[in-house]
Amino acid sequence: MTTRVTTVVVGAGHAGLAASRFLTARSIDHLVLERGEVANSWRRERWDSLRLLTPNFQSRLPGHRYDGSDPDGYMTMSEVIEFISRYATVSYAPVRTNTTVTSLRRTEDGYHVETNDGDFQCRCVVLASGACNLPSVPPMRDAVPRSIEHVTPLNYRNPAQLPEGGVLVVGPSATGVQLAGEIHRSGRKVTLCVGEHVRLPRTYRRRDVLWWMESSGVWDQRYDQIDDITRARRLPSPQLVGTPERSTLDLNTLSNMGVELVGRLSAIRDDRVLFSGGLRNMFALADLKMARLLDTFDEWAASCGDTGFSEPERFEPTRVPASSRLQIDLRSGEIRSIVWATGFRPDYSWLHVPVLDEKGYLQHDGGVVSSPGMYALGLPVLRRRKSSFIHGVEDDARELIDHLAAFLGEA
Ligand SMILES: Cc1cc2nc3c(=O)[nH]c(=O)nc-3n(C[C@H](O)[C@H](O)[C@H](O)COP(=O)(O)OP(=O)(O)OC[C@H]3O[C@@H](n4cnc5c(N)ncnc54)[C@H](O)[C@@H]3O)c2cc1C
Repeated sequence: MTTRVTTVVVGAGHAGLAASRFLTARSIDHLVLERGEVANSWRRERWDSLRLLTPNFQSRLPGHRYDGSDPDGYMTMSEVIEFISRYATVSYAPVRTNTTVTSLRRTEDGYHVETNDGDFQCRCVVLASGACNLPSVPPMRDAVPRSIEHVTPLNYRNPAQLPEGGVLVVGPSATGVQLAGEIHRSGRKVTLCVGEHVRLPRTYRRRDVLWWMESSGVWDQRYDQIDDITRARRLPSPQLVGTPERSTLDLNTLSNMGVELVGRLSAIRDDRVLFSGGLRNMFALADLKMARLLDTFDEWAASCGDTGFSEPERFEPTRVPASSRLQIDLRSGEIRSIVWATGFRPDYSWLHVPVLDEKGYLQHDGGVVSSPGMYALGLPVLRRRKSSFIHGVEDDARELIDHLAAFLGEA
């Protein structure tokens, strides 16, 4: 039996729920199909110690916001799950849980959606199935000797699951630096492979750096005003961690702790991992980009009359190790496990509409997919720099549901 509904939303994370909220406001009948439970990614795919790196005051969704007593704190995973689940409840979102979309195809008048729990026919689809469904691991993984364990951020929970012994963490963005720090604190020797990265202090001029991102307007920059949008959409996440102490977690912090920094992982050959040189240049580039961003904040503060801010700060350059190793022999026993903190990618294996590029990424113009009546939400820099963050979805969802309503002739 096929159920008819005007719009199907795939995924009940915060993006799908925000879409639902605007659809309800426009009285467009819809269903949110979710393969697990509401906030499934936060329940099933995050490590135990993770806290949001966005502060509580930025935890806000259309019609729902953090109202606790610690606006500058960072939510634990159980708090995020509670926050998003509560949103689903207060929004009366029509979510069907445990309903996995297994196939989505174009029909003459819309889309046919197959799930493990029945089929649906709809005119419009909102893809809100997430940007981080799969770990993005380089193919050279296959050259790693079998004696070494592999972990990705999607199946890592805590250091106790790793074998005793040295750990190679590949990737220096938010996930990589957080896991390198945590694993080091468990008593294991950690080597961190450092490629391109985005360095940020946790606080700047006594305010959270993400307060500056928001207030200065950097996060509001639109996708059609960004010169190289493809690159912007692939940028690694900033080196940030949310802790009660509001501490900075950059490469200097990790070096001070005793984490060894090596260059980008360039190849695995004859049971050896090879790292590229050039740490100095890579560090200098990240430091330069951070300084430019801080200049932007200062310019904005000056344009507001510089009132109420403490003095501008500048930070110690990233320290280059006196010498860094260019290879490690994986048969030596030094490395017992590898953590691939090399990013994430979406999973559209169920999407049978020709809207993906050759690398499997969705082709869209600010979330409007080239197939009529199809929209996307929650992807990096979808319509603005803030798009993939919790507080970033509201503006995108409003505009895209406006577009969807116009498509239906209901605007
Ligand atoms: C490690 C990590 C830390 C992050 N930290 C922050 C942070 O501090 N602050 C912040 O604002 N953002 C953060 N993000 C980014 C962002 O908020 C998340 O990626 C967020 O989960 C995206 O929301 P979403 O609703 O688009 O996707 P998701 O939350 O991933 O929701 C997608 C939903 O779709 C479901 N789904 C997928 N495929 C199907 C299918 N075929 N059928 C049915 N259902 C399906 C999934 O089960 C899931 O529930 C973080 C992301 C990661 C990975």
